[in-house]
Amino acid sequence: MSNYRPTIGLEIHAELKTHTKMFCDSLNDPDEKHPNVNVCPVCLSHPGTLPTINKQAVEHVIKVGLALGGKINPVSKFDRKNYFYPDLPKGYQISQYDQPLVLSGELNGVRIRRIHLEEDTGTLIHDEKTYSSLVDFNRAGVPLMELVTEPDVKSADETIAFAKELQLILRYLGVSDADMEKGQMRIEANVSINMGTKTELKNINSFRFAREAIEYEIKRQKEALEKGGEIEQETRGWDENKKRTVSQRTKEEAHDYRYFPEPDLPPFETSVFGFENLKISIPELPKEKRTRLASEYSLNEKQVGVLVEDMALAEYFEEAVSELKALSAKADPKAILNYLTSDLMGLINAEKLVFADLKIEPEHLAHLVFLIESGKIGSRQAKDILAKMFETGLDPEEILTSEGLHTISDEAELIKVVQEVIKENPSAVADYKKGKTASLQFLVGQAMAKLKGRGNPEVLAKIFEKNL
Ligand code: ADP
Ligand code: MG
Repeated sequence: MSNYRPTIGLEIHAELKTHTKMFCDSLNDPDEKHPNVNVCPVCLSHPGTLPTINKQAVEHVIKVGLALGGKINPVSKFDRKNYFYPDLPKGYQISQYDQPLVLSGELNGVRIRRIHLEEDTGTLIHDEKTYSSLVDFNRAGVPLMELVTEPDVKSADETIAFAKELQLILRYLGVSDADMEKGQMRIEANVSINMGTKTELKNINSFRFAREAIEYEIKRQKEALEKGGEIEQETRGWDENKKRTVSQRTKEEAHDYRYFPEPDLPPFETSVFGFENLKISIPELPKEKRTRLASEYSLNEKQVGVLVEDMALAEYFEEAVSELKALSAKADPKAILNYLTSDLMGLINAEKLVFADLKIEPEHLAHLVFLIESGKIGSRQAKDILAKMFETGLDPEEILTSEGLHTISDEAELIKVVQEVIKENPSAVADYKKGKTASLQFLVGQAMAKLKGRGNPEVLAKIFEKNL
């Protein structure tokens, strides 16, 4: 039924990376394991306390707005959104209602309606055995960005692509780690058919669940409409076990929240945050980086994708390539890419490390590739050296010297081995003399085995030719 077109609008929350919380000086530490450590009278809402605005959080949101080509609201303000829940000590959340920080923007062809700043709630820990709940306020008051799109998204795939690109941009900007599993990024999807009545999908904590929930919901709504039924406006959650969306509550309206201006925080002019300086601090963004890397290094989409996924990895790659070019004009950047994405990633993953833990300097990786390309070491030997570099962070040349691994090119040293091999392999020698050139490769291989891979194969071949 092609006239049933899904329409999806997204509301994406991201916890911002700041030193302190949104309205007080308690630490914003997502890794804190002990409950209720990073709290103070302000974020615990003791009566008589006053909020102060975290400048870094506002700057983060303005940066996101600028990066997405949005208009920054000249005057912005905070509002109270009133509701009760045990994880919300104030009984209201400080958010932004009619004057958000960012008024527009665009990403992946999806229009952005607004981006605003608010505070996160605490977390509840439910104990099913005793039917009791505990509350941890470490997260209460952590700066939270909310981005709202127009209903321009047309499928679950487009939702995931949008959310992943946003996640990457937030990381590039350094404003959020945006880890879905840790709840640092949360996706809410408003789903309807042809802009009819929408349902809001909430509490989805992975990209996979988001895709499954949206696909399910589109199908559910289509089937209901085809049967002549109606869609009820409601909030639905994802039941991972039953693989379906389930009604959670009928949707509340804005007037239920009794929004009103936060009386303790006056409206403010955003120009005081200095847009020009914030613009300068925006790095090359993923989209531009993909285009540039592809043309500059002749990489395909997949290769570029791997690099751009991690800003540090892409930077490392470019630095290593530039070091390699300094050593040899005809060096191939793809050799660097291959070592980075296969061998090194393998070592990093095997040790359960992350890329940032890598001890090898880009110039040392470049040096290794240069040693291989110039025939000073073989690719098998390179693997061992790379493993040592990974452990120690040393330059490959240093490792060659200290481990006595230097390739032997000295004829005087190699001739003895050649003579031994000739003596031990009379039939191969006879074959070679009859014109079977492949036998030379075999003999060189025998010599390499005796030399534990350290012989220079070209020099060895020459000595064989001379002595046969
Ligand atoms: P509400 O007032 O119900 O909260 P909003 O107009 O504020 O709705 O929109 C919230 C989100 O829902 C936005 O992302 C918007 O794009 C999306 N949205 C609005 N109407 C629809 C619709 N009919 N179908 C799908 N998404 C919609
Ligand atoms: Mg709304």
